[in-house]
Amino acid sequence: MMLDQTTSDMPGQLRFVELPHPSPTPPAERAARLENPGFGRVFTDHMATIRYSEAQGWYDAQICPRAPFQMDPAAGVLHYAQEIFEGMKAYRLPDGGTALFRPRANARRFRASAERMAMVPLPEELFLESVRRLVKVERDWIPPIEGGSLYLRPFMIATEVFLGVKPSAEYIYAVIASSVGAYFKGEAPAVSLWVSQEFTRSAPGGTGAAKCGGNYAASLVAQTEATRRGHDQVLFLDAVERRWIEELGGMNIFFVFDDGSIRTPPLGGTILAGITRDSIIQLARDRGLTVAETPYAIDQCQADAASGRLVEAFACGTAAVVTPIGRMTLGENEFVIGSGGPGQLTQSISQTLTAIQRGTAPDPYGWVDRID
Ligand SMILES: *Cc1c(COP(=O)(O)O)cnc(C)c1O
Repeated sequence: MMLDQTTSDMPGQLRFVELPHPSPTPPAERAARLENPGFGRVFTDHMATIRYSEAQGWYDAQICPRAPFQMDPAAGVLHYAQEIFEGMKAYRLPDGGTALFRPRANARRFRASAERMAMVPLPEELFLESVRRLVKVERDWIPPIEGGSLYLRPFMIATEVFLGVKPSAEYIYAVIASSVGAYFKGEAPAVSLWVSQEFTRSAPGGTGAAKCGGNYAASLVAQTEATRRGHDQVLFLDAVERRWIEELGGMNIFFVFDDGSIRTPPLGGTILAGITRDSIIQLARDRGLTVAETPYAIDQCQADAASGRLVEAFACGTAAVVTPIGRMTLGENEFVIGSGGPGQLTQSISQTLTAIQRGTAPDPYGWVDRID
C-alpha cells in the first residue's frame, strides 16, 4: 500500500480560484463528441493551473478555461526539456458518482519525477486537489459509453526565460482532461511487438524511472521502426547487455508460465514504476499466484515461447489497462506466444482490475478514490 500514501507537505494554504468558461460547450455538442471519442482528441472546457517562482513559491492556483499558454521563446522547457507528466483516469461509478484510481500514487510519482529532473516538486496535496477539482467541474465529460472515462494529464514545464543550462526557477503546472472511449472496442486483440536491438529508451543512471517527455522522445524512432515493419509496439531491452527485457515505450510487461507463475522485469531505475503494474502484482498474489520481479532475457523468452513454457504475455498501463501480446519479432525471427491470441489469465486479471476501477467489484485495497 506504500504507493498510495501521501506526504502532507502543504506549505500553508493555497486557495484555488474557479473561473468558469464564458461559453462552455453546449450539452448537445458535447454529447455528439462523446459518442466515439477515441483517445486523446476530445478535450474538456477547463484546466487546472498553478504557477511557481522562486520568489513566490506555488501561487495562482486556478480552475480556468482551457487556453493556450503564453510562453517566451526562451522558456527552459523549449530548449532543455525540463518536463514531466502523469496519466490517470476518472471513472463513473454505477451509482452515478465519480472516482479516481489510486491518485495518491500518481501524486507521489509526480514528485519523484520532478526530483529526478531537478524541478521543484509540487506538494502532493496540491496535485490531488487540482485533479479532484478539475474532475468535479468536468464530470459530465465522462463518456456514458462502455469503457468510457476521463483521462487526466497533469504535467509541469520549466518556464524561466534563460538560455543558460541550469534548473529553471519558474514552472507552470497544469492538468488537462480528455474524454476517452475503451482503448479497444470489445475484447482487446493481441498485439505484436518488435524488439529493438539498436535503440534503447533508458540507461542505468538515466531518466527511465521518471515520467518525462524526454523518455518518449527517445522512444519514438524505435516505435516508428516497429510500425514501419508492421508491428504494433516496440519492446526495449536494457542498454548495457541488450539482453534483458525492460518495457514498451509506455507500458510495463508481464509473462505468464505454464505452471501458473508470473514474471515481470524488476524496477531498478531504468523502468517506469507503473501503477497498473503494481496493482496487477497485488491482484495476482492475492489469487495465490507466484509473481517474480526478476530479469528475463529475450533469448530465454524466445526459447520459452518455443517450448510452450511461456503461455501468455501482456502489457499494461493506465491508457489501455491490459493489452495482450500475441507475438514478438527478434531480428529475423518471429515467435508466437501461447495461442497468439489473448491469454486466459490475461483476460481474467484485466476484468478484475477494470471492475475494481469502475466500481462494479469490491475494492478491498482502498484503490478507488471517490470524489463525488
Ligand atoms: C506511464 C508509463 C507506464 C504505465 O504506468 P501506469 O501508472 O500503469 O499508467 C509504463 N511505462 C512508461 C514508460 C510510462 O511512461
